[in-house]
Amino acid sequence: MEQDATWEERWHPLREEWVIVAAHRQSRPWIGSTVAAPARPAPYDPACYLCPGNRRVGGVLNPDYDGVYVFDNDHPCVGPRAPDRLFEPPAPYRVRRADGLARVLCLSPRHDTTMAELSIDRVAAVIATWQAQMRELRRLAGVRQVLIFENKGEVVGVSNPHPHGQLYATNFSWKTFETEHDAQRRYRRETGRALFADIIAAEQRDGRRMLYEDDAVIAFVPYFARYAYEVYLAPKRRVAHIDALRDHEVVALARGLHAVTVSFDNLWRAPFPYVMSLHQAPFDDEGDFHCFIGFLPPLRRPDTLKFLAGPEIGGGNFLSDTAPEATAAELRAAGGAHYRQEAR
Ligand SMILES: [Zn+2]
Repeated sequence: MEQDATWEERWHPLREEWVIVAAHRQSRPWIGSTVAAPARPAPYDPACYLCPGNRRVGGVLNPDYDGVYVFDNDHPCVGPRAPDRLFEPPAPYRVRRADGLARVLCLSPRHDTTMAELSIDRVAAVIATWQAQMRELRRLAGVRQVLIFENKGEVVGVSNPHPHGQLYATNFSWKTFETEHDAQRRYRRETGRALFADIIAAEQRDGRRMLYEDDAVIAFVPYFARYAYEVYLAPKRRVAHIDALRDHEVVALARGLHAVTVSFDNLWRAPFPYVMSLHQAPFDDEGDFHCFIGFLPPLRRPDTLKFLAGPEIGGGNFLSDTAPEATAAELRAAGGAHYRQEAR
């Protein structure tokens, strides 16, 4: 076996679970599904329900917006119209109203321009919109937490290519953040230190998985990555919610978001699919929680999906075929200007 092949188990301190890294199997023959790069859409699509001036399902007309455009989701999963007459199930089952708010956030009026190709100013405007939404929603009665995310690419089920994120304000706290919150609480109790600050320090000391850093933010493929190209982008100063960031930190985060998404797209010179989410604390329990942006890309090669199967779905722990040190090196080498801009 090659000397640099990684075959070991790594502890995921934020989820408190083991990840099997079996990078020695990467060269095994692969017969699986492939993902073709989609054609670049037009800057404006008259049939798109997100483009400015177009009509949405239900008849609402989008304004002729220029910046970020936020509206209540026409097909909400939680919301004020959820039924309140519910059938009370027998124990141990429980039921309650699907209360909350679901919103859509169009990143820009351009149908064809993803986060990676937006100017730093426009990315900063997206983050400022997240902040404004947080400030508004934290005042709403019954909202415990806000999940802000972006699904990018057909392989993660995005039907409309117009770049947009979503927001769910819910009456419960999301499981991932609850798990991370518990881990950070336990770590504080057992060591007296902040877990996320220690993760940042460990990544800085090692350096092999680092992607981007300035005074205010840091991006890296975590030591314990579950997905091949998983990336954490975090403010260095601990805040529990994105709206606690100061203006210079927002600009720094925008630069970091730009750098990470450009590396993704440049890697295979194609729009890079991912699920991106803001990890934030519930409103009523900040504790030690360190807010960060997590990218979970579903591909492990240009044409190969990471399938969630026996270990992940059946057992609940991840099996990774790639070493985070190797994928971080690939992403670092893919930095710089966006490949479509180079071509112009
Ligand atoms: Zn559109």
